[in-house]
Amino acid sequence: MNAASEYAYLLDPAAPRETLTWARLSGFARRFVEEDPRNALPEGERLRIWDAPLLGVAAADDPLFTQLKTPGVVGPLHRSPREWLPGAQSVVSWFLPYNQAVRKSYPKKSSMPSLAWVSGRRNGEVFNNALRRALIRFLEKHGGQGIAPSNEAQYQTVGMIPTWSERHAAFIAGIGSFGIHGALITVLGCAGRIGSVITDLALPPTPRPYREIYEYCPYPSLGKCGACVPRRPARAIGAEFGGNWRDNSRCVVQGRDVVGDFFKDWGYHSCGHCLTWLPCADRIPRISRIPLAHPQETRERAHEPSFLAA
Ligand code: SF4
Repeated sequence: MNAASEYAYLLDPAAPRETLTWARLSGFARRFVEEDPRNALPEGERLRIWDAPLLGVAAADDPLFTQLKTPGVVGPLHRSPREWLPGAQSVVSWFLPYNQAVRKSYPKKSSMPSLAWVSGRRNGEVFNNALRRALIRFLEKHGGQGIAPSNEAQYQTVGMIPTWSERHAAFIAGIGSFGIHGALITVLGCAGRIGSVITDLALPPTPRPYREIYEYCPYPSLGKCGACVPRRPARAIGAEFGGNWRDNSRCVVQGRDVVGDFFKDWGYHSCGHCLTWLPCADRIPRISRIPLAHPQETRERAHEPSFLAA
């Protein structure tokens, strides 16, 4: 089945089923990002919001999902894949990197984000939800079920503790490891959004090329970099916040009250200082403990089946 007929397959219930592989799932997600008209800012020249996603798969019974219930990791409220979907076999997770034009629009010095960034944050998440729904339909067409916890009624956040953490699911699926700024650092950087769906289809898990939670960020282990510490306007990152390195409640106030007030005529909020103009913004930092001999080559191979797929 070529790419063109694969897209039609989603709409044609009579089309024959083929075995679902990482390459087909990733290919479908990439094509959706490439072609769906919702992947565009509504303002101005309708800049594209997201580039091709990085997609990974975790086994639903990966023991790390149980560890997420530990206080201080995510917390006891966090639900396992099988608590979301009885019979779940796999968790499909992805990272959507911001298009370069949106990233570069972010001012280097101002304490306020660009309009393109705040619009991309809001409208890009609308698109991310569309991708979640499209992938669920794609899984259903292959004879499975799928749900996106973030779109379910049971999804809630109590005292900053969510019942499903997209970032932690992506960590388990091999997408990337954490930075002290709290975002996931991937081979395509940290400036993006994450999504996931849980399915009862058994898909081979993708490799997890790291062992430690902060493996791609050199600050905790080597004391190097630290570029995000002074860049965060709410002063929310630093060793004074203990093992988590940050106080997210300060960011909530900054995004809601400061950025939200600045963009109140647009209805946008959310800051992105800790995702832009950093050594980890669009790649794994070169001074990471991971010896990437050819970081550019690694980035270029990020969407090849052999890179993530088992
Ligand atoms: S800017 Fe540097 S210290 Fe901060 S998360 Fe990125 S790699 Fe780590």
